Amino acid sequence: MNMGDKMECIFCKIVNGEIPSYIVYEDEIVKAFLDVNPDVNGHTLIVPKKHYKDLFDIDNDTLIHIMEIAKKIDKLLKDKLNTDGLTLVQNNGLKQEVKHFHLHLKPGYKNEGKLLPVEEIYKKINE
Ligand code: AMP
Ligand code: ZN
Repeated sequence: MNMGDKMECIFCKIVNGEIPSYIVYEDEIVKAFLDVNPDVNGHTLIVPKKHYKDLFDIDNDTLIHIMEIAKKIDKLLKDKLNTDGLTLVQNNGLKQEVKHFHLHLKPGYKNEGKLLPVEEIYKKINE
């Protein structure tokens, strides 16, 4: 990887706090934050703090950790937003816009309301 790629990486900037984000969960390995352009209320991204390009670059231990955190965040979304169901999406290559590995968490709802502003969802999660 060219070091320039990493310096310009928007998710590296979110990880190191250069760009603000609506943080849902954080530990020493990952940061999870709300997608700014959500497909559904509560759409969350889990990102490893270390820059891995995609599924073929990331190590298996980090992947397993990301899956464990996905389960933890699902509990949080159930609790705070009354979600029911979860779709995981992870894009690579041509399908991937941001070239820093991320897992999309897209929750489901029995009665899906209208899409709310991300700030409102963030407030509900922190209530
Ligand atoms: P993709 O690389 O296609 O899997 O998707 C990248 C996702 O990152 C999109 O859903 C964007 O809305 C989201 N995104 C881009 N910039 C930001 C940001 N600054 N904060 C939160 N989400 C972002
Ligand atoms: Zn990065």
